[in-house]
Amino acid sequence: MRIVTTIAEARAAVRALRDGNQAGSIGFVPTMGALHAGHMSLVCAARGQCDAVVVSIFVNPTQFGPNEDFAKYPRTFEQDCALLESEGVDLLFAPSADEMYPLGASTFVDVEGVSDRLDGLSRPGHFRGVSTVVAKLFHVLAPDKAFFGQKDAAQVAVLRKMVRDLHFSLELLVCPIKREADGLAMSSRNRYLSPEERRRALVLSKALWRVEELVSENVVAAPALIDAALAVLAGEPEVRVDYCKIVDPETLEEVADVRKGALAAVAAVVGTTRLIDNTVIAPLVTA
Ligand code: AMP
Repeated sequence: MRIVTTIAEARAAVRALRDGNQAGSIGFVPTMGALHAGHMSLVCAARGQCDAVVVSIFVNPTQFGPNEDFAKYPRTFEQDCALLESEGVDLLFAPSADEMYPLGASTFVDVEGVSDRLDGLSRPGHFRGVSTVVAKLFHVLAPDKAFFGQKDAAQVAVLRKMVRDLHFSLELLVCPIKREADGLAMSSRNRYLSPEERRRALVLSKALWRVEELVSENVVAAPALIDAALAVLAGEPEVRVDYCKIVDPETLEEVADVRKGALAAVAAVVGTTRLIDNTVIAPLVTA
Protein backbone atom coordinates (compact mmCIF):
# COMPACT_ATOMS: atom_id res chain seq x y z
CA MET A 1 0.00 0.00 0.00
CA ARG A 2 1.32 3.38 -0.99
CA ILE A 3 0.90 6.21 1.56
CA VAL A 4 0.86 9.81 0.34
CA THR A 5 0.28 13.07 2.19
CA THR A 6 0.22 15.77 -0.48
CA ILE A 7 -2.41 16.55 -3.10
CA ALA A 8 0.18 16.46 -5.89
CA GLU A 9 1.35 12.98 -4.83
CA ALA A 10 -2.25 11.77 -4.47
CA ARG A 11 -3.14 12.96 -7.98
CA ALA A 12 -0.07 11.27 -9.47
CA ALA A 13 -0.71 8.05 -7.53
CA VAL A 14 -4.33 7.86 -8.71
CA ARG A 15 -3.17 8.46 -12.28
CA ALA A 16 -0.66 5.62 -11.90
CA LEU A 17 -3.38 3.33 -10.50
CA ARG A 18 -5.62 4.10 -13.44
CA ASP A 19 -2.83 3.43 -15.93
CA GLY A 20 -1.84 0.25 -14.10
CA ASN A 21 -5.40 -1.05 -14.23
CA GLN A 22 -5.94 -0.09 -17.87
CA ALA A 23 -8.38 2.67 -16.90
CA GLY A 24 -10.23 0.36 -14.48
CA SER A 25 -12.48 1.74 -11.76
CA ILE A 26 -11.27 3.43 -8.57
CA GLY A 27 -13.21 2.96 -5.34
CA PHE A 28 -12.80 5.53 -2.56
CA VAL A 29 -13.49 5.26 1.18
CA PRO A 30 -13.11 8.52 3.11
CA THR A 31 -12.51 8.12 6.87
CA MET A 32 -11.26 9.98 9.91
CA GLY A 33 -9.17 6.97 10.98
CA ALA A 34 -9.40 5.05 14.28
CA LEU A 35 -10.59 2.28 12.00
CA HIS A 36 -12.95 -0.51 13.07
CA ALA A 37 -14.93 -3.26 11.35
CA GLY A 38 -17.52 -0.69 10.14
CA HIS A 39 -14.86 1.15 8.13
CA MET A 40 -13.40 -2.13 6.93
CA SER A 41 -16.80 -3.24 5.58
CA LEU A 42 -16.67 -0.18 3.29
CA VAL A 43 -13.14 -1.11 2.20
CA CYS A 44 -14.32 -4.66 1.49
CA ALA A 45 -17.24 -3.39 -0.60
CA ALA A 46 -14.90 -1.10 -2.54
CA ARG A 47 -12.47 -3.95 -3.18
CA GLY A 48 -15.32 -6.15 -4.38
CA GLN A 49 -16.67 -3.57 -6.80
CA CYS A 50 -13.60 -1.70 -8.06
CA ASP A 51 -10.21 -2.44 -9.59
CA ALA A 52 -8.29 -0.27 -7.14
CA VAL A 53 -9.12 1.04 -3.65
CA VAL A 54 -8.14 4.42 -2.24
CA VAL A 55 -8.76 5.29 1.43
CA SER A 56 -8.30 8.67 3.08
CA ILE A 57 -7.62 9.33 6.73
CA PHE A 58 -8.20 12.95 7.67
CA VAL A 59 -9.61 14.29 10.91
CA ASN A 60 -11.32 17.27 9.33
CA PRO A 61 -11.18 20.32 11.61
CA THR A 62 -13.99 22.21 9.84
CA GLN A 63 -16.64 19.63 10.75
CA PHE A 64 -16.03 19.94 14.51
CA GLY A 65 -17.69 22.66 16.58
CA PRO A 66 -15.60 24.77 18.98
CA ASN A 67 -16.64 22.67 21.99
CA GLU A 68 -16.40 19.30 20.28
CA ASP A 69 -13.78 16.56 20.41
CA PHE A 70 -11.42 17.52 17.54
CA ALA A 71 -8.30 17.64 19.76
CA LYS A 72 -9.01 14.37 21.53
CA TYR A 73 -10.48 12.48 18.54
CA PRO A 74 -8.71 9.07 18.52
CA ARG A 75 -5.72 8.91 16.19
CA THR A 76 -4.33 5.40 15.63
CA PHE A 77 -2.42 5.86 12.39
CA GLU A 78 0.02 2.92 12.66
CA GLN A 79 -2.74 0.42 13.47
CA ASP A 80 -4.95 1.87 10.72
CA CYS A 81 -2.17 1.44 8.15
CA ALA A 82 -1.66 -2.20 9.16
CA LEU A 83 -5.40 -2.90 8.82
CA LEU A 84 -5.67 -1.23 5.42
CA GLU A 85 -2.54 -2.98 4.20
CA SER A 86 -3.94 -6.36 5.27
CA GLU A 87 -7.17 -5.64 3.36
CA GLY A 88 -5.29 -4.97 0.14
CA VAL A 89 -5.86 -1.20 -0.09
CA ASP A 90 -3.80 0.29 -2.91
CA LEU A 91 -3.43 3.88 -1.80
CA LEU A 92 -3.81 5.76 1.48
CA PHE A 93 -4.14 9.53 1.35
CA ALA A 94 -3.42 11.06 4.76
CA PRO A 95 -3.05 14.81 4.29
CA SER A 96 -2.39 17.47 6.93
CA ALA A 97 -4.95 20.18 7.67
CA ASP A 98 -2.66 22.72 5.97
CA GLU A 99 -2.61 20.61 2.83
CA MET A 100 -6.41 20.39 2.68
CA TYR A 101 -7.00 24.01 3.74
CA PRO A 102 -4.21 26.16 2.30
CA LEU A 103 -3.61 29.43 4.11
CA GLY A 104 -6.46 31.84 3.41
CA ALA A 105 -8.81 29.19 1.98
CA SER A 106 -12.32 30.62 2.17
CA THR A 107 -14.34 28.45 -0.22
CA PHE A 108 -16.94 26.14 1.29
CA VAL A 109 -19.63 23.80 -0.01
CA ASP A 110 -22.96 24.28 1.73
CA VAL A 111 -25.80 21.91 0.89
CA GLU A 112 -28.58 24.16 2.11
CA GLY A 113 -31.67 22.85 3.87
CA VAL A 114 -30.74 19.23 4.44
CA SER A 115 -27.54 20.32 6.26
CA ASP A 116 -29.61 21.96 9.00
CA ARG A 117 -31.57 18.84 9.95
CA LEU A 118 -30.85 15.99 12.40
CA ASP A 119 -27.15 16.27 13.36
CA GLY A 120 -26.94 19.53 11.42
CA LEU A 121 -29.44 21.08 13.80
CA SER A 122 -27.48 20.11 16.92
CA ARG A 123 -24.07 20.64 15.32
CA PRO A 124 -24.30 23.91 13.35
CA GLY A 125 -21.74 24.02 10.53
CA HIS A 126 -20.95 20.30 10.84
CA PHE A 127 -22.25 19.32 7.41
CA ARG A 128 -20.72 22.39 5.76
CA GLY A 129 -17.37 21.01 6.95
CA VAL A 130 -18.24 17.50 5.78
CA SER A 131 -19.46 18.51 2.32
CA THR A 132 -16.50 20.84 1.82
CA VAL A 133 -13.88 18.23 2.67
CA VAL A 134 -15.61 15.44 0.75
CA ALA A 135 -15.92 17.71 -2.32
CA LYS A 136 -12.18 18.45 -2.07
CA LEU A 137 -11.36 14.73 -1.74
CA PHE A 138 -13.59 13.84 -4.71
CA HIS A 139 -11.93 16.59 -6.71
CA VAL A 140 -8.39 15.41 -5.89
CA LEU A 141 -8.92 11.65 -6.13
CA ALA A 142 -11.57 11.56 -8.89
CA PRO A 143 -12.97 8.15 -7.86
CA ASP A 144 -15.58 6.25 -9.89
CA LYS A 145 -17.37 5.01 -6.77
CA ALA A 146 -17.34 6.38 -3.23
CA PHE A 147 -18.42 4.27 -0.25
CA PHE A 148 -20.16 5.62 2.85
CA GLY A 149 -21.80 4.03 5.89
CA GLN A 150 -25.53 4.04 6.60
CA LYS A 151 -24.40 4.70 10.20
CA ASP A 152 -24.15 8.39 9.23
CA ALA A 153 -27.53 8.54 7.48
CA ALA A 154 -27.79 12.34 7.55
CA GLN A 155 -24.31 12.61 6.04
CA VAL A 156 -25.42 10.29 3.24
CA ALA A 157 -28.44 12.54 2.52
CA VAL A 158 -26.24 15.66 2.42
CA LEU A 159 -23.59 14.07 0.20
CA ARG A 160 -26.09 12.50 -2.20
CA LYS A 161 -27.55 15.95 -2.77
CA MET A 162 -24.10 17.49 -3.16
CA VAL A 163 -23.14 14.88 -5.79
CA ARG A 164 -26.36 15.63 -7.67
CA ASP A 165 -26.25 19.41 -7.32
CA LEU A 166 -22.57 19.75 -8.29
CA HIS A 167 -22.62 17.09 -11.04
CA PHE A 168 -19.87 14.96 -9.54
CA SER A 169 -19.19 12.16 -11.97
CA LEU A 170 -19.21 9.28 -9.50
CA GLU A 171 -21.52 6.78 -7.89
CA LEU A 172 -22.17 7.05 -4.17
CA LEU A 173 -22.72 3.69 -2.49
CA VAL A 174 -24.01 3.11 1.02
CA CYS A 175 -23.04 0.12 3.18
CA PRO A 176 -25.14 -1.23 6.10
CA ILE A 177 -24.38 -0.38 9.74
CA LYS A 178 -21.88 -2.77 11.35
CA ARG A 179 -22.82 -3.56 14.94
CA GLU A 180 -21.18 -5.22 17.92
CA ALA A 181 -22.72 -8.59 18.85
CA ASP A 182 -25.01 -6.89 21.40
CA GLY A 183 -26.33 -4.33 18.91
CA LEU A 184 -24.19 -1.26 19.60
CA ALA A 185 -23.39 0.47 16.31
CA MET A 186 -19.62 0.48 15.80
CA SER A 187 -18.06 3.93 16.09
CA SER A 188 -14.59 5.35 16.61
CA ARG A 189 -16.12 7.25 19.54
CA ASN A 190 -17.15 4.03 21.35
CA ARG A 191 -13.63 3.88 22.74
CA TYR A 192 -14.45 6.94 24.87
CA LEU A 193 -17.09 4.93 26.78
CA SER A 194 -16.47 3.50 30.26
CA PRO A 195 -17.81 -0.05 30.77
CA GLU A 196 -20.91 1.38 32.47
CA GLU A 197 -21.49 3.92 29.68
CA ARG A 198 -20.93 1.16 27.10
CA ARG A 199 -23.79 -0.77 28.76
CA ARG A 200 -26.05 2.28 28.85
CA ALA A 201 -25.33 3.03 25.19
CA LEU A 202 -27.19 -0.13 24.19
CA VAL A 203 -30.42 1.78 24.77
CA LEU A 204 -30.03 3.49 21.38
CA SER A 205 -30.22 0.27 19.34
CA LYS A 206 -32.90 -1.08 21.70
CA ALA A 207 -35.07 1.99 21.02
CA LEU A 208 -34.69 1.40 17.27
CA TRP A 209 -35.51 -2.30 17.63
CA ARG A 210 -38.72 -1.29 19.41
CA VAL A 211 -39.60 0.91 16.42
CA GLU A 212 -38.90 -1.99 14.02
CA GLU A 213 -41.02 -4.30 16.15
CA LEU A 214 -43.99 -1.89 16.15
CA VAL A 215 -43.70 -1.33 12.38
CA SER A 216 -43.80 -5.10 11.90
CA GLU A 217 -47.07 -4.99 13.87
CA ASN A 218 -48.38 -2.38 11.40
CA VAL A 219 -48.00 0.69 13.59
CA VAL A 220 -47.34 3.44 11.02
CA ALA A 221 -47.95 6.77 12.81
CA ALA A 222 -44.61 8.50 13.44
CA PRO A 223 -45.67 10.07 16.78
CA ALA A 224 -46.60 6.64 18.18
CA LEU A 225 -43.28 5.17 17.03
CA ILE A 226 -41.30 8.10 18.44
CA ASP A 227 -43.12 7.87 21.79
CA ALA A 228 -42.29 4.17 21.98
CA ALA A 229 -38.62 4.82 21.21
CA LEU A 230 -38.49 7.63 23.77
CA ALA A 231 -40.04 5.31 26.37
CA VAL A 232 -37.19 2.83 25.81
CA LEU A 233 -34.61 5.63 25.95
CA ALA A 234 -36.15 6.86 29.21
CA GLY A 235 -35.15 3.50 30.72
CA GLU A 236 -31.60 4.90 30.89
CA PRO A 237 -32.13 8.30 32.55
CA GLU A 238 -28.39 9.04 32.43
CA VAL A 239 -28.53 8.98 28.62
CA ARG A 240 -29.46 12.45 27.33
CA VAL A 241 -31.46 12.29 24.11
CA ASP A 242 -30.44 14.86 21.50
CA TYR A 243 -33.00 13.83 18.87
CA CYS A 244 -35.26 10.90 18.17
CA LYS A 245 -37.02 11.42 14.85
CA ILE A 246 -38.68 9.70 11.95
CA VAL A 247 -37.77 11.42 8.72
CA ASP A 248 -37.69 11.16 4.95
CA PRO A 249 -34.25 9.60 4.25
CA GLU A 250 -33.57 12.03 1.38
CA THR A 251 -34.75 15.39 2.73
CA LEU A 252 -34.44 14.53 6.45
CA GLU A 253 -37.78 16.27 6.99
CA GLU A 254 -40.07 14.70 9.56
CA VAL A 255 -42.82 12.47 8.22
CA ALA A 256 -46.26 11.84 9.68
CA ASP A 257 -46.24 8.11 8.98
CA VAL A 258 -43.89 5.46 7.63
CA ARG A 259 -46.08 3.92 4.93
CA LYS A 260 -43.82 5.21 2.12
CA GLY A 261 -40.66 4.18 3.99
CA ALA A 262 -38.67 6.31 6.42
CA LEU A 263 -35.55 6.66 8.50
CA ALA A 264 -35.80 6.33 12.29
CA ALA A 265 -32.79 8.14 13.74
CA VAL A 266 -31.55 8.77 17.23
CA ALA A 267 -28.69 10.77 18.75
CA ALA A 268 -27.89 10.79 22.46
CA VAL A 269 -25.10 11.77 24.81
CA VAL A 270 -23.76 8.98 27.04
CA GLY A 271 -21.41 10.43 29.65
CA THR A 272 -19.71 13.03 27.46
CA THR A 273 -19.87 11.00 24.25
CA ARG A 274 -22.44 11.80 21.57
CA LEU A 275 -23.60 8.66 19.76
CA ILE A 276 -25.88 8.22 16.75
CA ASP A 277 -27.80 5.26 15.35
CA ASN A 278 -30.63 4.67 12.90
CA THR A 279 -32.73 2.13 11.11
CA VAL A 280 -34.28 2.24 7.67
CA ILE A 281 -37.99 1.42 7.54
CA ALA A 282 -38.90 -0.09 4.16
CA PRO A 283 -42.06 1.10 2.40
CA LEU A 284 -45.08 -0.95 3.42
CA VAL A 285 -46.29 -3.29 0.73
CA THR A 286 -50.01 -2.82 0.16
CA ALA A 287 -52.07 -5.58 -1.41
P1 AMP B 1 -15.68 8.25 10.11
O1 AMP B 1 -14.27 7.77 10.20
O2 AMP B 1 -16.43 8.17 11.40
O3 AMP B 1 -15.80 9.59 9.42
O4 AMP B 1 -16.43 7.22 9.15
C1 AMP B 1 -15.95 6.94 7.86
C2 AMP B 1 -17.01 6.16 7.12
O5 AMP B 1 -17.25 4.93 7.81
C3 AMP B 1 -18.36 6.88 7.04
O6 AMP B 1 -18.92 6.70 5.75
C4 AMP B 1 -19.17 6.20 8.10
O7 AMP B 1 -20.56 6.24 7.88
C5 AMP B 1 -18.64 4.78 8.00
N1 AMP B 1 -18.93 4.04 9.25
C6 AMP B 1 -18.63 4.43 10.51
N2 AMP B 1 -19.13 3.54 11.40
C7 AMP B 1 -19.75 2.59 10.68
C8 AMP B 1 -20.46 1.40 11.02
N3 AMP B 1 -20.65 1.03 12.28
N4 AMP B 1 -20.97 0.65 10.01
C9 AMP B 1 -20.80 1.02 8.71
N5 AMP B 1 -20.14 2.13 8.33
C10 AMP B 1 -19.62 2.90 9.29
